[in-house]
Amino acid sequence: MRKSKPYSPAAVKKRELLPKDPYLRKTPNPDGAVCAGCGAVYKSKRWALPGKGASVSLKARASIPAVVTCPACQKARDKYPGGVVTLRGHFLDGHRDEILNLVRNEEARARGYNPLERIIEIKSRAGGIEVTTTTEKLAQRIGREVKKAYGGTLGYTWSHDVKFARVGWEREKEGRESR
Ligand SMILES: [Zn+2]
Repeated sequence: MRKSKPYSPAAVKKRELLPKDPYLRKTPNPDGAVCAGCGAVYKSKRWALPGKGASVSLKARASIPAVVTCPACQKARDKYPGGVVTLRGHFLDGHRDEILNLVRNEEARARGYNPLERIIEIKSRAGGIEVTTTTEKLAQRIGREVKKAYGGTLGYTWSHDVKFARVGWEREKEGRESR
């Protein structure tokens, strides 16, 4: 069994310093700006979870635009995913709900570190499920965790120039499987 690396907030932070992601390059917001879509708070050039952001004086608050939108909400609105996970195979038939629970739990965990990591959509496709995510990192993480829990096979196609990952997981057989 292969051990996956623990999820590291430091790595997330480092990655944010290298924004190839066009949605992160847009004009910075003033500190204390709150995303109207998800409540994430802008502080020192990054987005923080609601409640963990800036406490801003009333005077400063007056200069903050009433409605701002964080990059993750923009991507969701534009349907511009950073990653796609495709889950396939007959094994899904009897395990769809538990696998989707795991997928949602992984999203919640990633989002606890970085509010910009999230699922855009979960769609049923012929023969499988397609999960689109705001970041390539989250797509990779979901694929890795599904494989860790359920075995099967996992493949990645990773594009560095546009920050996009396509992750495919597949399992056909029921019953025990060596991992
Ligand atoms: Zn948002």
